[in-house]
Amino acid sequence: MSKWLENITNDHVLALTPYESARRLFSSEQNQSAGQVWLNANEAPSAQDYQIDSTLFNRYPDCQPLEVIGAYAKYSGLSKQQIVATRGADEGIELVIRAFCEPGKSSVLVCPPTYGMYAISAQTFNVGVERAPLNQDFSLDLATIETYVGKVNVVFLCSPNNPTGTRLAQADIIAVLNMYKDKALVVLDEAYVEFDSDAEQTQLLQQYDNLLILRTLSKAFALAGIRCGFALSSAEICTTLLKVIAPYPVPAPVAQVASVALSENGVIVMRERVASLQTGIERIKSELANIPNITLVGDAKANFVLFKSDENPQLMRFLVENGVIIRDQSKQLNLQNCLRITVGSDAENTKLLSLIQRFFDQAAVRNAS
Ligand SMILES: *Cc1c(COP(=O)(O)O)cnc(C)c1O
Repeated sequence: MSKWLENITNDHVLALTPYESARRLFSSEQNQSAGQVWLNANEAPSAQDYQIDSTLFNRYPDCQPLEVIGAYAKYSGLSKQQIVATRGADEGIELVIRAFCEPGKSSVLVCPPTYGMYAISAQTFNVGVERAPLNQDFSLDLATIETYVGKVNVVFLCSPNNPTGTRLAQADIIAVLNMYKDKALVVLDEAYVEFDSDAEQTQLLQQYDNLLILRTLSKAFALAGIRCGFALSSAEICTTLLKVIAPYPVPAPVAQVASVALSENGVIVMRERVASLQTGIERIKSELANIPNITLVGDAKANFVLFKSDENPQLMRFLVENGVIIRDQSKQLNLQNCLRITVGSDAENTKLLSLIQRFFDQAAVRNAS
């Protein structure tokens, strides 16, 4: 980096390393090379068709397009004042930090192993990150979480959690809301809630004014490419988030696609997709469970399966060499030797499972000789 640029760059930015998103590790250009199977980013295996109407593309869109907010209000059972549309749930995370944390002063609390963007987003704003690791069974460690009351402005929870696939107990979420009442905002990330309707906690918004729920169209709605998510909270908190959001966060084509996806028919299509992916999840789980060297880890309440094996570094390499990309989670706290598989199409799941089987068959031969 040039000296002058280094001089003007914020110190905390100099110290950052870019988030290793699935797409940065393996770009979609590589994806286009023949026959690659992408099971590393919790995306849906295929896209729907959408028609775009460009009539008003010369105009700026509404900051919060009514058709999108209205559709999400209907879908979630909340009022329009309780919904903010964002550029993916990732922007929701960032807005919360920008609205409620003071750079260089405030901290957030995260419960690893969990989604990496809470900590990364905090670090990009020079906001501190405290950690209350999940218990061995991936439940919340309430006693440790309680020690941070008064020390953090935001607590990030995720249910179903990425990458463990586990659902948080409602009683534990309520305990956190109560211990942080009048003290901090509790963000509950429900990016995968369509795969586990029992995890849904929107009803808690009526009772707890310190709860904010994050949602996305990237996972069950198969729209990771359009970048559309939602923050659900009290009208007061939503108004505050709208103070820090970009002037036009929801591009017109995104609004059009999102409204169709959230229409009555769109929701039916989404539920069918979820049901079919859940069949794939059950298949992956049962076939992996039959492989002696593999242990399933956590749960599969989302669209992925997490598993552990001593041979995982070699297995990961073998899969990449054979064109199947899954996600290494071994650097996450307490997830040594864990890999995460996003459920794919039937054909993709078949290819993946037969490669894993082949790898362990060959390993058995290697070990025997
Ligand atoms: C994928 C994911 C997100 C990000 O969703 P976008 O809407 O695509 O930004 C947020 N939280 C969790 C837990 C995720 O897995």
